[in-house]
Amino acid sequence: MNLDLRVISKCIRCGNCRAVCPVFEEEGWESANTRGRIMIIKSLANGHNQSPEVLESLNACTTCGLCIENCPAGINPPDLVEVARRELASLGIMTEVQVELHRNILGAGNTFGERLDRLAWLHDRRVLKKKADYIYFAGCLASFRNPEISSKAFEILSRFGATVLQNEQCCGSPLIRTGFDASPLIEHNLREIDRVGAGAIITGCAGCYTTLKNDYPSQIDIISISEFLADHLQEMELRRLNLQVTYHDPCHLGRMNKIYEKPRQLIEAICSFEEMVTNRKDARCCGGGGGVRAGYKDLSLRLARRRLDDIPQGVDCIITSCPLCLRNLSDVSNDKKVMDIVELVALSME
Ligand code: SF4
Ligand code: SF4
Repeated sequence: MNLDLRVISKCIRCGNCRAVCPVFEEEGWESANTRGRIMIIKSLANGHNQSPEVLESLNACTTCGLCIENCPAGINPPDLVEVARRELASLGIMTEVQVELHRNILGAGNTFGERLDRLAWLHDRRVLKKKADYIYFAGCLASFRNPEISSKAFEILSRFGATVLQNEQCCGSPLIRTGFDASPLIEHNLREIDRVGAGAIITGCAGCYTTLKNDYPSQIDIISISEFLADHLQEMELRRLNLQVTYHDPCHLGRMNKIYEKPRQLIEAICSFEEMVTNRKDARCCGGGGGVRAGYKDLSLRLARRRLDDIPQGVDCIITSCPLCLRNLSDVSNDKKVMDIVELVALSME
């Protein structure tokens, strides 16, 4: 297997990662924590255990990155998990959910296998420009499951001259995270981006953000929508809202890309803000990422419920900046509204 034993062998089995792994907190068995996963990956690298049983452990990692922050050996466990998933998938060792995801994305260009118009949220296609400085990249979730958010995001961004791709496809994140090659999608999107000639891509999805930024071989600037809007506060007419909110850091925006301050600046320009109990680099995961929501829904929602324990008293709603976090947290939140940061901005512009 193409797993680097030199990296894996750096693990001193201290268990620091075990103490923070949110999946271990739920499941309680060694193979469900980072250290157990590293041991499994080591045995795979040595040519053992190449069987579907190991998927229960490896595929239940949300790739949240909490373990990276706590590893004294400097290992990046989610990277190793992704490589191991890729190696297993290349041997045909994968779950039904992985097979379906792969089929949906390569067949229809989106995670859901939807054949509907990806741009149905755009009410008037005449506003699309062939050339523009900025491209708004909506992503699969916002395009098909949160069209009202895409619509609001684009309405705001079009004031700054943004357009969207005529034929956007999935950024490739779900494929990369679950062990597949995303190069057909990457090449397709790069061709579309080139046609527009933009200098930057703005996205409201944490998964798209990290993928466009770290997995695309492009020099183009990738900007999260909360960064962009925070940097253009003076150019927007925002009114204060009588709301007290908190903010959930999406793992792939916060820990993985260190975007912590701009979403907070944006929120504080609009309403009262209070931190969650764990926040920034220590923020708990919503449980949705790394293919866990798709593959292990019950576990995923239990992780989301844990995240709700971090909400400070007295807040009216939870703001986040990722449609997957939004979906997972909304599914378990009974009394608190969960809102995308774009919805908050749109509300303050009404
Ligand atoms: S914290 Fe790092 S070194 Fe310690 S057990 Fe986990 S992966 Fe190994
Ligand atoms: S990335 Fe998150 S879920 Fe995966 S092993 Fe590390 S702490 Fe656990």
